[in-house]
Amino acid sequence: MQHSVIPCGACSSEVSHLAETCPKCGHPNDWVHPQIKKFLSIKDNAGTKGYFNYTHDKLRLQCKADGSLPWWYWVGLVGLVVFINASIVVAFIAGLVWTCIGFACKRHKILNIDFSQEKPVIENNDKAFWDGLLIQLDVK
Ligand SMILES: [Zn+2]
Repeated sequence: MQHSVIPCGACSSEVSHLAETCPKCGHPNDWVHPQIKKFLSIKDNAGTKGYFNYTHDKLRLQCKADGSLPWWYWVGLVGLVVFINASIVVAFIAGLVWTCIGFACKRHKILNIDFSQEKPVIENNDKAFWDGLLIQLDVK
């Protein structure tokens, strides 16, 4: 700062502009940077898009407003929800297809034995199921 000394508001003795109080009389030094002083006079009509809080000391001004979440947060959130729902739909369709394929592929357990040959000709599609019968018929 250019003018590092200002007159005390009470006793007019010279006070550093950064001093909290006058060293002579103890009067509080309410000096702040001129821009901060200007801010304090216009803060209620500051031209911002919304309400904000502020703090300041003699040389520093800090303003803070509640911000809305950034656009990519919403994109990500919507994407996640869509992804989860799509996953559920895909899983549901996959399960449905799987079940349909299971029904379509369901086969009867078949055993055909042709005794017309010297050695019986056995056709079956589930050996484990028919095995006991084949053993009892002694046609293995
Ligand atoms: Zn003073």
